[in-house]
Amino acid sequence: MKKKRRGQDKEPTLGLAAVYFARAMQKHGCPLCRRIREAEERWIWNVLYELTGDPEVHRSFADSLGLCRGHAALMAQVVEERELVSPASVARLYETAVAEALTRLSRPHEKIRDEREECPLCEVARETGERESWFLAKLLADPEFWAAYEGSDGLCLPHFLSIWPKVPSRVRAKFREDFQRRLSQLLRNLRELQRKERFDVDEPLTLEESTSWQEALWRLAGMSFFSPILKRG
Ligand SMILES: [Zn+2]
Ligand SMILES: [Zn+2]
Repeated sequence: MKKKRRGQDKEPTLGLAAVYFARAMQKHGCPLCRRIREAEERWIWNVLYELTGDPEVHRSFADSLGLCRGHAALMAQVVEERELVSPASVARLYETAVAEALTRLSRPHEKIRDEREECPLCEVARETGERESWFLAKLLADPEFWAAYEGSDGLCLPHFLSIWPKVPSRVRAKFREDFQRRLSQLLRNLRELQRKERFDVDEPLTLEESTSWQEALWRLAGMSFFSPILKRG
């Protein structure tokens, strides 16, 4: 069994995954993107609250020389927007990363190279994505869950493609048709948005049409969340 990285959730089950997905599907956008983002924020909370002195966390911050750019920005947002997290917690972790960077720079010229390991939060996101995709693919075969999925915003294209090989063959046809329907509707909305924006057309835009350009951005690329989505404290 794979080693669990410090700061991650307890071992999840299919039943729990169904509850979390049901919740995510009531919200805007791709539920899988949302589940991954929740895991990323929870990891940041756990690390900053409880694990800033944890040797394993410090070792991973030293190996990776801190977080990648995107995850560093997320950590900054969490600290800036949630007053309960102290900046000193970030300082404690980064003291290790900065000291390690200095050590590596003191090597002989020919030994200075970029050998940072994967950002620990990228690893959490990747593992969460793999695990949740597997759960979601299984859950789609349940008629009640399927109905909830159909009524939700559905997946982004990258997640549709990543779970496709895992979806049971008996639900593949309707899974694909559902996604094709969403894309066809999006295409119609994008065209209507352009047509109705013309100066000689005096027809009101529907909400779906006026926001279709935003949907196209997340539908094809995956969701960006511009501020923390989890509440705590
Ligand atoms: Zn997604
Ligand atoms: Zn990262």
